[in-house]
Amino acid sequence: MTDLQSVLQTITPNIRTILEHCLEGKELKQDDATTLFSVTGPELTALVLTADYLRELQCGDQVSYVVNRNINFTNVCIKTCQFCAFSRDLRSEEGYFLPTDEIIRRAQEALSYGATEVCLQAGLAPSIDGEIYIDLCRELHQALPKLHLHAFSPEEVKYGAIRSKRTFYDYLSALKDAGIGSLPGTSAEILNDTLRKRISPGRISTQEWIQIVTTAHKLGIPTTSTMMFGHVETKEERAAHMALLRDIQKQTGGFTEFVPLSFVHQEAPLFIKQDITGVQPGPTGNDIIRMYAIARLMLGATIKNIQASWVKEGLRMASWLLNCGVNDLGGTLMNESISTTAGASHGQLMTPAMLRHAIRDAGRVPVERRTTYEIHRQFSRVLEEQEIEQDPLSQLEHPQEIFGSYQELTTDQTFTYKFENAL
Ligand code: SF4
Repeated sequence: MTDLQSVLQTITPNIRTILEHCLEGKELKQDDATTLFSVTGPELTALVLTADYLRELQCGDQVSYVVNRNINFTNVCIKTCQFCAFSRDLRSEEGYFLPTDEIIRRAQEALSYGATEVCLQAGLAPSIDGEIYIDLCRELHQALPKLHLHAFSPEEVKYGAIRSKRTFYDYLSALKDAGIGSLPGTSAEILNDTLRKRISPGRISTQEWIQIVTTAHKLGIPTTSTMMFGHVETKEERAAHMALLRDIQKQTGGFTEFVPLSFVHQEAPLFIKQDITGVQPGPTGNDIIRMYAIARLMLGATIKNIQASWVKEGLRMASWLLNCGVNDLGGTLMNESISTTAGASHGQLMTPAMLRHAIRDAGRVPVERRTTYEIHRQFSRVLEEQEIEQDPLSQLEHPQEIFGSYQELTTDQTFTYKFENAL
């Protein structure tokens, strides 16, 4: 706090007043958040120190992670979101579709390596039976009741509901009865319909996203909340997006965390085609730091957990972000595909030992959490020998040989998408 107080004395009065208000526990206004997206130099230092102070106040010293596995069970999709390099047309040779028994096998394997969660998200395969998501949940939950099912973005829930001719309420109720534990709050990008129409025509609308998420919360299904940044959005749109999430959280309390997601541009059609003007190649390093720090200031009092994505930012940047308001490093994933196809080069899995090393190196205390942030396993501030012995995933020398890669999946003929798969 002493460092912060002395830095605050050196910066412009306007920024100092905004940060002091946050330190006094006042809510960061949307306009002031917009202003903070432009700070540099000592003002950026003051922003980071303020975020770190508030993180300590709101979350203490612990940094959490979850042992989980991503199962992106098909990459075939009827949509063509321009930021997405994962989806394939139904005629593509690279299209795959995993049958339910293979999804259960992968989940079982994850469980045997210590996972407490499986995360299911996928493309919207054409002509599927609308009950597919419900049936999949039911079968997985019956087979592996100890695994938390973190499954289906609001876009997938909308697709399932429309195809099964159910209301969102009915569909989400059926998913809950089938064993779903929580929803990823993805397909949010920036919740502004004008912008959404530019970067992903046909995408779920802002109102539909809000409706699905708030209905889930009412039914007792928590969700995460996310934001993709560093593409075409303005500072005002970022601040408005976070203000909207804060308003929802005040009404429902159903968000478990907020995850800013840097736009991965390398293979994204939005960047390659440059059909619309002003597409950025993702955020700069300083912009990422500003984003996470402002998220702590704006959301920390209502959405306590701010997660840094090692997939998007890399573990080095993610560990630096622990100084900028972050208290969670997300999951081990085991099979990351979506960012990898977009050009991210940070790997498809992270072992718990690597996450704990990064947390300790930042001077913090690692904890393994469950999806909804209950503590699953506690660790000491320093590495203890037995923790690796009790951690089968961290003992693997070549974990990718066990879990396979996205590239293998797209070339494995066993799982090649066939139109009748989905009927
Ligand atoms: S983001 Fe999802 S819905 Fe959009 S194209 Fe990619 S897989 Fe399909």
